[in-house]
Amino acid sequence: MIIKDLSETLRIKMNHALINLLPNDSPKIDLISVDLAKREAGFQGEKNFRYHLNSVPQEDFRIFYDLRLNVGDTFFQIDALLISQFFVIIFEVKNFYGTLTFDSKFNQFIRTVNHKEEGFPNPLIQAKKHQRLLDLWLKKNKLPPVPIECLVVISYSSTILRTTENSNINDKIIHAENITFKIEEIKSRYKKLKLTSRIIKKMSDTLISQDTPLRPDILQIYNIPQEDLRKGVQCPQCKSYAMNRKYRRWHCPHCTFISKDAHRQALIDFYLLLSPTITNFQCREFLFLTNRKTAQFLLT
Ligand SMILES: [Zn+2]
Repeated sequence: MIIKDLSETLRIKMNHALINLLPNDSPKIDLISVDLAKREAGFQGEKNFRYHLNSVPQEDFRIFYDLRLNVGDTFFQIDALLISQFFVIIFEVKNFYGTLTFDSKFNQFIRTVNHKEEGFPNPLIQAKKHQRLLDLWLKKNKLPPVPIECLVVISYSSTILRTTENSNINDKIIHAENITFKIEEIKSRYKKLKLTSRIIKKMSDTLISQDTPLRPDILQIYNIPQEDLRKGVQCPQCKSYAMNRKYRRWHCPHCTFISKDAHRQALIDFYLLLSPTITNFQCREFLFLTNRKTAQFLLT
């Protein structure tokens, strides 16, 4: 059973909003688009993993995607977490293409694409760090200890995995399509009941209440002054700015399109790029409204 489903990250939504609100000739758009494409490819990989994870018997497990938890000042992000009454599994999902070589002697992780080699942080080390942090998190929240397994999942079967020597990494790094088989294998190793239904419920509730998705300061990341963003309501039909408010509707001065709720997108963009809260004054300024009551009505 999925308790927290996979969804587009705030960062992907923010990049989309930013491209929308910057003038078309902004020199930043290329950089933001390239960044967005990488993040969307990553999201596709996670969706592929989710597709395979969906084929495990759902009634036995509780599944959470994209959790961000903290122990003291340390925050850690888990791509997916599976909880059963016998064990817990942390999944670290990776979307690398090409050939991946794990050198356990030097603890290196090398990707080769078109004979070009590139080094990356070892995802197993990352996964083991998360394993330790989750263990501490359980203690901190007065939840009983449970065996924690960690797996690095490579989203696509076209990615070739290699090791430099005899090592047991094939035990920890798998292709997404082998997930059902791997979970069955882990299941066969744990026979001792660790968590009652009541404790699992408590653990789920605590995970959801303590999950704190990262809200990046997107304008600062790309060094964009707030004044560079376009204000007003965009026409959903011809995409031009800005629509005028007349007779309780939005009117486009360019294509004459009339909309009842075109302000919704502007308010979502405001939320994503500027602030999670908005005052009546900010709303009037951002949507080019003069009437306080209209702003109040639209915000409601
Ligand atoms: Zn229009």
